[in-house]
Amino acid sequence: MMRNFDSDCIFCKIAQGEIPSEIVYQDEKVTAFKDLSPKAPVHVLIIPNGHYSDLNDCGEEDAEWMGQVLLTAARIAREQGIGESGYRVIVNAGPDAGQTVFHLHYHLLGGKPMAFTV
Ligand code: 5GP
Ligand code: ZN
Repeated sequence: MMRNFDSDCIFCKIAQGEIPSEIVYQDEKVTAFKDLSPKAPVHVLIIPNGHYSDLNDCGEEDAEWMGQVLLTAARIAREQGIGESGYRVIVNAGPDAGQTVFHLHYHLLGGKPMAFTV
């Protein structure tokens, strides 16, 4: 069971359609929209529609929709034409990772060679 939204959260508002964004995919569990300041030719954010502040906020009960998020990332990558050229899915959690928005989001990045390898 996914959580409800938080009316003070910017990404909850995007999922609810209260703040405009360029949505590329949406269903009852997840929303995918273009990043406002893209770091790559393709930069899409994929979020759960319910409010989770970060990965630390998720538990076993969330495993199913979390898996769907990754499948959604792969499908959007194909749709955006980067399925074969390559892409990266990144989740920032906490200060050392530079997380700035505290609604869990998965960055889908591609369309150019990545600046660094992990
Ligand atoms: P973080 O650093 O927390 O992992 O990433 C937050 C991301 O959200 C950044 O890449 C930033 O550009 C993006 N972002 C922040 N506010 C908005 C917004 O209002 N709309 C959209 N589309 N992206 C946003
Ligand atoms: Zn939220």
